[in-house]
Amino acid sequence: MLFLFGKRSSQLVVESLPLDIACAYCGTRGSLTGVVFADYLHFFWIPVLPLGKSCVTVCGHCKQTLSGQFQMPPAYRPAVRELEKQAKTPFWHFGVLALLVAAFAIALIGGAIASLTGDHRFDSGEPALGARYRSKPSRTSTPADSTYYLIQITRLTTDTVDYKMTVGLRGRFSTASATVALRDSLDSPSAVRKAPRSVWKFMCTGQGIFRRFD
Ligand SMILES: [Zn+2]
Repeated sequence: MLFLFGKRSSQLVVESLPLDIACAYCGTRGSLTGVVFADYLHFFWIPVLPLGKSCVTVCGHCKQTLSGQFQMPPAYRPAVRELEKQAKTPFWHFGVLALLVAAFAIALIGGAIASLTGDHRFDSGEPALGARYRSKPSRTSTPADSTYYLIQITRLTTDTVDYKMTVGLRGRFSTASATVALRDSLDSPSAVRKAPRSVWKFMCTGQGIFRRFD
């Protein structure tokens, strides 16, 4: 699995260290080269997450190689830190991370829009006996003062949907309050309302004014 998911590095900067720094092993001055790497986690060789930078020094004379500031003598460190500062982590190391952040942001915004428009419930549009719907609140009203209507399917035929409808309701909405309203607050208790299925679909799906709530 290691080769599918693991750590990789890309080389960012190769620079000679200042001439006055002597090699810690052979003492030669001006022989040191610093190489800065950017490390990243990859998944199938695609960068997923940047892990920061690391530096390696090589002496051109004795070939001593030191990696990481902890291995290096104090005389190396300021120059190495400077080199790491110069090296910028390439943007493509953030590739998948950036994509994930973007996808997450889009999902959040989409969710917010869906909850604003009341469009969060998937509705196949197929009417079902007993299904209950609530009218969408008008854009200008707050939930506390808006009037809403409830409808419930009472009978289905091949062409029509029979339903009952409440008068305009206000105040807190719950499935329990809906049950009471659909029993006690109908606009015309004795009349049977009918809608052709095509009209019903228009009323209750897409941008229609009614949304199914259970
Ligand atoms: Zn050396």
